[in-house]
Amino acid sequence: MKTFADFGITDLKGAGVERVSTCPQCSSARKNKRAKCLSVNTEKGCWNCHHCGWAGTLKQGAEHSSNPYLWKPKTYTKPIFIPKDPEAQMLEWFAQRGISEAVVRRNQIRRDVVYMPQPETEVPVICFPFFRGGQVVNVKYRDKDKNFRGVGGAERIFFGLDD
Ligand SMILES: [Zn+2]
Repeated sequence: MKTFADFGITDLKGAGVERVSTCPQCSSARKNKRAKCLSVNTEKGCWNCHHCGWAGTLKQGAEHSSNPYLWKPKTYTKPIFIPKDPEAQMLEWFAQRGISEAVVRRNQIRRDVVYMPQPETEVPVICFPFFRGGQVVNVKYRDKDKNFRGVGGAERIFFGLDD
């Protein structure tokens, strides 16, 4: 028989059958990391997160949320591009790579949240538009794990032709 700790559920608060804890799926990404969003029933051996919808039982294991928009894979709970001031973070990220704000602005590089095939979900990305003659020919999206994708069917040209 598995234990709650096998699913990352630890530090149960309260006494008796109904306990609460933080959620191993979403708490680290929340503003209030200590919010006790996970309800645990020690008798039935089941749990349910009121924030992300993650649920499961000790017998059958973890289930996905009934609401796919709320449930996020654990690896994407800490996006590097969208903390408090996402714009400043992005510019800092480029600055660390020797790319100035002027270059970012001139090339109209911006942030977005788009579907990426590798993690199979919507994640924060940086968008690199490919211009030619003032027209956007393609856009390349890069996420924090260095996954790239372009626009399906779009022409492949060199970056910065107009710059
Ligand atoms: Zn949760």
